[in-house]
Amino acid sequence: MQTQHHTRQRVEIQRLPGGIALKQGRRLLNFSDNDYLGLSFHPALQAAAAAAITEYGVGAGASRLVSGNHPLYTELEKTLVQMKGTEDALVFGSGFLMNLGVVNGLLQRGDLILADRLIHASLVDAMTLSGARFQRFRHNDMTHLEELLKRHGTLPTAQSAARSEGFGEYSPTKIYILTEGVFSMDGDVAPLPAMLGLAERFHATVIMDDAHGFGVLGNGLGTAAAQGVAGHPQLLQTGTFSKACGSYGGYVAGSSEMIETLVNRARSLIYTTGLPPSVVAANLAALKVIQAEPERGEKALHYARIFCEMLKLPAPQSAIVPVIIGTAEAALKAAHMLEEKGFLVIAIRPPTVPVGSSRLRIAFSAIHTEEMVKNLAIAIQSNLLARNADHSTTD
Ligand SMILES: *Cc1c(COP(=O)(O)O)cnc(C)c1O
Repeated sequence: MQTQHHTRQRVEIQRLPGGIALKQGRRLLNFSDNDYLGLSFHPALQAAAAAAITEYGVGAGASRLVSGNHPLYTELEKTLVQMKGTEDALVFGSGFLMNLGVVNGLLQRGDLILADRLIHASLVDAMTLSGARFQRFRHNDMTHLEELLKRHGTLPTAQSAARSEGFGEYSPTKIYILTEGVFSMDGDVAPLPAMLGLAERFHATVIMDDAHGFGVLGNGLGTAAAQGVAGHPQLLQTGTFSKACGSYGGYVAGSSEMIETLVNRARSLIYTTGLPPSVVAANLAALKVIQAEPERGEKALHYARIFCEMLKLPAPQSAIVPVIIGTAEAALKAAHMLEEKGFLVIAIRPPTVPVGSSRLRIAFSAIHTEEMVKNLAIAIQSNLLARNADHSTTD
């Protein structure tokens, strides 16, 4: 019975403009996707993509390192550099490919990864593939991270001593700290200044996946900008064009040295076809909208705040608000009840989240209206009250 609540299925859903999703013939208010700024239907992105298809065709034809590196890529990466405050940037086919490429391109066997316990599945796969040693620290717990660094951290003095004693090719173990900017299933934010303080002390590099912060926090510039650490030499800011940018693709922004290493070593960049020029054009148009209208991110945050106030939840740190339900069964039931009332809200279950913390994951977008948000809060309130009264619910 329990396994049934973990089965995943391909359900047809068609997204429409205005925050609407069409599911089995029914129009639902969509609070389930990551289009935080409502850019997936933005006329500027649609026009840029359509024009690029007409002019450049529908496919890239080859890898970026062969003949698939359309000039639009250069413009896109230059704009990312401006927004991220880094020396260079590199665009990948998707966020998943980017995480595989960044972790495997930079790390060598024998390096050490310290990863937040809640990092995204693509980073977990990337770590596993890398052959590096890795250990998880408790979510956002800098005391635990410091303990692990002390226990495992190769002291730089020991490294330079080893080198000066003539170890020749000796290459010291490098330490990488993996985190998300905004955590995808919890909506909370990593303490980047404290983490970078530790990175400085222990000569580590922080890889921060900002899939859910970019476009929303820091006037749209992301979690690092919001916390005043963009451009930190030991920080690699990564992310995706598939969420707030409303399109598709992944990116990494950091020092020239790290980006050059990735161009030469990231297999998920080298051995895969470049993004279609229309997608690159849409991504560029998305960055221009974010630069011109940073208030879009603020609007999504404003909705999250209204919702949390109404449900007496802790103040949100991003556009994602989890409503923890408990069992997978109860979370699915809550999602079904909301669907009956016209809302598309997704129940997130194990293994995506730990057992017993199944939840409704609510994502707010600038495309919503205040009325939609308030109606959702009212629907959830009555749903939860009904559930608490239902003694057959076992948690
Ligand atoms: C969605 C997501 C990814 C994957 O990005 P895609 O562009 O969808 O492949 C990577 N990391 C995090 C944290 C994500 O939420």
